[in-house]
Amino acid sequence: MYIAPMSVQRKIIHIDMDAFYASVEQRDNPEYRGKAIAVGGSPEGRGGVVATCSYEARKFGVRSAMPSKRALQLCPHLIFVRPRFAAYKEVSQSVREIFSRYTDLIEPLSLDEAYLDVTEDKQQIGSAIAIAQQIKQAIREELQLTASAGVSINKFVAKIASDMQKPDGLTFIAPSQVESFMENLPVEKFFGVGKVTADKMKSMNLHTGKDLKKLSENELVQYFGKSGRFYYKIVRGIDDRAVEPHRETKSVGAEDTFAYDLTLIEEMNAELDKIAVTVANRLERYQLKGRTVTLKIKYSDFKQITRNQSLAQGINDLPTIAAVAKQLLLKTEPEDKKIRLLGITLSNFGEEQPPETAQLSLF
Ligand SMILES: [Mg+2]
Repeated sequence: MYIAPMSVQRKIIHIDMDAFYASVEQRDNPEYRGKAIAVGGSPEGRGGVVATCSYEARKFGVRSAMPSKRALQLCPHLIFVRPRFAAYKEVSQSVREIFSRYTDLIEPLSLDEAYLDVTEDKQQIGSAIAIAQQIKQAIREELQLTASAGVSINKFVAKIASDMQKPDGLTFIAPSQVESFMENLPVEKFFGVGKVTADKMKSMNLHTGKDLKKLSENELVQYFGKSGRFYYKIVRGIDDRAVEPHRETKSVGAEDTFAYDLTLIEEMNAELDKIAVTVANRLERYQLKGRTVTLKIKYSDFKQITRNQSLAQGINDLPTIAAVAKQLLLKTEPEDKKIRLLGITLSNFGEEQPPETAQLSLF
């Protein structure tokens, strides 16, 4: 009897630097060590946002993307530090160089995160766990920083794993554990599952991967659209997405043409909220964070304009996408205008930072 060869099981590592910007600041400025610091915009004035905060600050509930004013309320002794993107980029390149000792199949997601495919590693170490350990050690010794690693057979599981024992963690989900790992995973952790979908799932008594697994592929597609097909596979531990060193996706967006022209700002904002849900879900699905948000508006006379804003840090979360889009809308003086189409697009996924001027306007 002929037995077809099993396809080679891949070895995927997801590396995520711990509290990256804040850790670099604490490394370079000894006076910040052991202190609650937030890298980002000042709490004075308007609109300052925390980009990254130290673990000391996280104990007080301070989080990324939180308004700096709110962060200061939670943690009154919080030290605000202006970001030094050039420094972070340099460190990021050094981290990339460490990765490249083991593989060329490196897919950066942002300055501080990347997937590595080490199915065949350059040094013929063979063990993905050993490679992850060596990478973490090199980052510690050469850069005086820590990273967390997730090791498994696909990108999806590796990424969730890297987050499980932060900071300075290494989590391995063995091939034989992948299915039960997925069964125990809360539905919120599946990508493509934003808040809306999660609520819908819960109302259907679907709380974990195990619950999703009880549904057929057709049922999943019927209830959750195209993503249903993905859920069907991923809950069975199947994620064939390759680690792509040169990612092709340049932008992710959604738009909607309305049955009648919108004239009220409240209506426009409500539509932007809906479109932002679709965009956020797509970004999650592709595991992308974009730094440039573009708003497209088509008026009743078919005249079309676009407005965009670049942020210091990639975003993929619904509240931020919606907030930036609404801000852009306000700047177009939408009062007394008739709008027939709105669209939101995120782009700028690579490791490049926006020009200095864009950063300064945010911070
Ligand atoms: Mg990180």
